[in-house]
Amino acid sequence: MNERVKKLLLVYAVIAAVLGAYAVIVLGFNISLPCIFRKITGLKCPGCGNTGFVINAFHFRFVEALRSNYMFIPEMLYVGYAAVYASAAYLRTGKADFMIKPGWLNIVFLVMFLGWWVIRNIAGL
Ligand SMILES: [Zn+2]
Repeated sequence: MNERVKKLLLVYAVIAAVLGAYAVIVLGFNISLPCIFRKITGLKCPGCGNTGFVINAFHFRFVEALRSNYMFIPEMLYVGYAAVYASAAYLRTGKADFMIKPGWLNIVFLVMFLGWWVIRNIAGL
C-alpha cells in the first residue's frame, strides 16, 4: 500500500477512535465537554449544541437535534468537504493543503458561521 495512503488511514483511524471514545463517554456516562466560551461569557458559540444534535439524532429525535444547533449540518458538510479536499491534496502532492478551494466557499461558510453566532445569541436559539 502506498505510504501516503497508510498515513492518511492512520490519521482517520485516530480521529475515529477519539470520536468513538467521546461518543461512549457521552452516551454511556452522560458526560460531555463544557463550552469554555459559554462558561465565560454566558453566550452560545457557533458549536454549542453539537453534542446535543448528535445525541438526539442517535435517538432518532431529528427535530430536537436540529433545535440543538441549526448550523450542525452545514458545519459537518464543510468539515467533510475540507477533509476530502485536504486528503486528496495530500495523496496527490504529499503535502498537507488546508487552503480549501474554491475560495468563495470558505467566505460563504465564514459568513454563515459568524452570522449564526450573532443570530443565535440575539434570537435565543
Ligand atoms: Zn459553545
